[in-house]
Amino acid sequence: MARIVMKFGGTSVADLDRIRNVARHVKREVDAGNEVAVVVSAMAGKTNELVGWAQQMPRASGANLPFFDAREYDAIVASGEQVSAGLLAIALQSIGIDARSWQGWQIPIRTDGAHGAARIVDIDASTLIERFGRGQVAVVTGFQGIGPDNRIATLGRGGSDTSAVAVAAAVKADRCDIYTDVDGVYTTDPRIEPKARRLSKISFEEMLEMASLGAKVLQVRSVELAMVHKVRTFVRSSFDDPDAPGMGDPVNPPGTLICDEDEIVEQQVVTGIAYAKDEAQISLRRVSDRPGVAAGIFGPLAEAGINVDMIVQNISEDGSRTDMTFTVPSGDVDKALSVLEKVRETVGFDVLQHEAGMMKVSVIGIGMRSHAGVAATAFKALSERGINIRAITTSEIKISILIDGAYGELAVRALHSVYGLDKQ
Ligand code: ADP
Ligand code: ASP
Ligand code: MG
Repeated sequence: MARIVMKFGGTSVADLDRIRNVARHVKREVDAGNEVAVVVSAMAGKTNELVGWAQQMPRASGANLPFFDAREYDAIVASGEQVSAGLLAIALQSIGIDARSWQGWQIPIRTDGAHGAARIVDIDASTLIERFGRGQVAVVTGFQGIGPDNRIATLGRGGSDTSAVAVAAAVKADRCDIYTDVDGVYTTDPRIEPKARRLSKISFEEMLEMASLGAKVLQVRSVELAMVHKVRTFVRSSFDDPDAPGMGDPVNPPGTLICDEDEIVEQQVVTGIAYAKDEAQISLRRVSDRPGVAAGIFGPLAEAGINVDMIVQNISEDGSRTDMTFTVPSGDVDKALSVLEKVRETVGFDVLQHEAGMMKVSVIGIGMRSHAGVAATAFKALSERGINIRAITTSEIKISILIDGAYGELAVRALHSVYGLDKQ
């Protein structure tokens, strides 16, 4: 007997037939004698619809709010999960499984007060464990908890992955299975490169980079939690036949295992390619070159809640002026420009330029630590296809390159092929 947390994403619960199919996956694990808690997302497209409704509402007049009341935003967008959890509980009951739905606040899953992007701070596992004892399946709404203000708080888009791993850590589950619309983590997004291959294992560090650099198969925070709490996490498909041979394998279920580096015997130099669309480039030209300039630029941007990513600064030619380029999400450009205009005098720069529609492609692999020439290979592959590089950043296990978004898919495929990822 094992204790398992099973998470089903939006496409897995997209309609009533799929919810019935999910119930069969759950039944298989219950029938095998396991203790099971389930975490669900909203039905596919539902959260987008709810976010759209919230965004269309006018701001309260005179309210000193940056966008709209984030607590009400959370009350709206968290509702999708309530529906799918209730439907799945009914589907389970109809096939003879004792089940009930739980909303985040009922467990409770406690979060901090950052409405819209809250972090889980604590989960009281006692109720869930007591229900395991009764043989009951808890169907928990993903993506949400309750903040210190006693109101619903959501965890940021894709947050049900994080709910699932956090619940798994809290109940000390043997495994957390993330069921989605692909049968594992691939060398790159299989929607862009059909030659992408499924990885049987990927290290926590690499998965963290893949997720942070755009691979939305897992939310970044869920990987962090899995790494810190050593949760054995599998990514697998809900579209597989629930009763196919091997589906209930307790040790090696089909899918990709996210694990410690030393569990991976044959480590490749490059493991995967990730991409992030909708990046915008902002350049400050002829910035005065003196201590305090970077702080004067990025401090106010951070205070405005703008997530700055790649930063490139030139060494100045004459010691007096330099150029500073960085990227922000396209949706934040206007806000960033207005912040920068306010500091133009104090920082001292001549021209402010910006361009949206950029894409960041990244090459990721732990093997890079001990191999030279990985970056040069990427630059050559892009140059052979006439793709211009706008900015580059590197870390020990990744290289990120900013390019024009129109060449994004071509670049992903070129990099995927140049490291032989479609062949191994
Ligand atoms: P869910 O609704 O189940 O949470 P998501 O849409 O959030 O599913 O994540 C699954 C999607 O992630 C896949 O359909 C796939 O297009 C995308 N994806 C991006 N990069 C990868 C990758 N490296 N491996 C697998 N899937 C990826
Ligand atoms: N339903 C939420 C979203 O679409 C959470 C999730 O699916 O993980 O972002
Ligand atoms: Mg997701």
